Amino acid sequence: MIRCLIYIDPSETESSLDLIEAARQLHGDAFEVTGVLCSALDQTLPNVFDRLMLVAYPANGCIDPAQVADTMQALHWKDKFQSILIPATPFGRMLAPRLAMLLGTGLVADITKIRRTDEGVVVIRPAYSGSLMACIRFIGDGPMMMSVRPNVFRDMVKEERTMRIETLQPRTNGVGIEQIEVRPKQSSYDIRESEVLVSGGGGIAKSFAKIERLAELLGGKAAASRKLVDAGVAPRSIQVGQSGKTVNPELYIALGINGAIQHIEGIKGAKHIISVNINKDAPLTSLSDIVVEGDADRFLDQLIRRIQQHKSE
Ligand SMILES: Cc1cc2nc3c(=O)[nH]c(=O)nc-3n(C[C@H](O)[C@H](O)[C@H](O)COP(=O)(O)OP(=O)(O)OC[C@H]3O[C@@H](n4cnc5c(N)ncnc54)[C@H](O)[C@@H]3O)c2cc1C
Repeated sequence: MIRCLIYIDPSETESSLDLIEAARQLHGDAFEVTGVLCSALDQTLPNVFDRLMLVAYPANGCIDPAQVADTMQALHWKDKFQSILIPATPFGRMLAPRLAMLLGTGLVADITKIRRTDEGVVVIRPAYSGSLMACIRFIGDGPMMMSVRPNVFRDMVKEERTMRIETLQPRTNGVGIEQIEVRPKQSSYDIRESEVLVSGGGGIAKSFAKIERLAELLGGKAAASRKLVDAGVAPRSIQVGQSGKTVNPELYIALGINGAIQHIEGIKGAKHIISVNINKDAPLTSLSDIVVEGDADRFLDQLIRRIQQHKSE
């Protein structure tokens, strides 16, 4: 039986569960999947693993990527996995190269697609800031190791499995890191977590504060095309697209965004799109549920006023 090992990042469980679909695309339907979770059992975790290894870290203790890599290495030597998948979350990005080095195998980082061909599996990832998509084939004995970009395998059906739970002691060699303090970043947010995104592009360069205001009124977050990021109007952390983030909101409101292929790449999972553009033939309009032909700045003013009015009544 083909075996796959998945690291479950406790801070981004959903992105970790997506990797089961990545494993299915990698191996077909018949594979056994083991999850590694370095925290107490999350009761909301669905039964989608054959085996769940709980690594016994103390509650609220600091999880050291080097120790997790050691622990997963030992598990691999014992069970010999054909593939090891890690979500490309901040922690996953620290863990994956360490583990690949310990196992003496290659790592494909931040993959966005998997293709099975007659010559074997090919994984695809953006390279050179997204200017080309690199198709990479695994050679040698493996294991096939990759980190997977969050959100790209979202919403695909996950098969229920009979989950066996086992406990594993973390491997430590006495060396590690100690967490002294956690400082939350000031006013930072992750656009991938928002159900509503109000996104601005080249057509609204002067009104970004209004984008933020509308997003706030709708209970969502502001996002941007690369045009605004390159112009220094919006931070890179909220860029949507091939060289930015892949998002799956319920509603994506695109204001003054043309719809270049690199932008569309990041919003394929959006459930509903409203676009506002002076050009009703801009590429994004053909993908939109509602198209408003007109000036984005006026649209923002009027919608903000109407919502404020509605809230005050
Ligand atoms: C390697 C590479 C990677 C890239 N990665 C990304 C990425 O991750 N994300 C991304 O977004 N782009 C990316 N790009 C850039 C992408 O090709 C486009 O240049 C970019 O998306 C354009 O942004 P835009 O549509 O906001 O601006 P523009 O192309 O300037 O379009 C502005 C739009 O606003 C409309 N408009 C103008 N005035 C108004 C108005 N007053 N009211 C309403 N509408 C108006 C125009 O009709 C037009 O449709 C990448 C490019 C490369 C080469």
